[in-house]
Amino acid sequence: ALLITTKCINCDMCEPECPNDAISMGFETYQIDPARCTECVGYYDHSTCQSVCPISGVIILDPDHIETPEQLQEKAEKLKAEK
Ligand code: SF4
Ligand code: SF4
Repeated sequence: ALLITTKCINCDMCEPECPNDAISMGFETYQIDPARCTECVGYYDHSTCQSVCPISGVIILDPDHIETPEQLQEKAEKLKAEK
């Protein structure tokens, strides 16, 4: 999963672009639900939130939620089945 750091300026560019509805407004900045972030596996070749974020380095790989491509694919399939 990816992580939104405290450098986020709450511009709301990323939230509507997430195919998994993983992004929401948190206490002070936007946040990513690691249970819903597939790093865009299953939808796009690149993480769309990182592509649209105007500030580089705000959205990073979550060091507490490192996943293999297989795990991300499995999560994507589970989330698609819920829809
Ligand atoms: Fe959503 Fe993709 Fe960003 Fe994860 S990487 S939060 S799935 S847009
Ligand atoms: Fe924050 Fe970047 Fe999302 Fe804007 S696009 S709300 S700066 S993480």
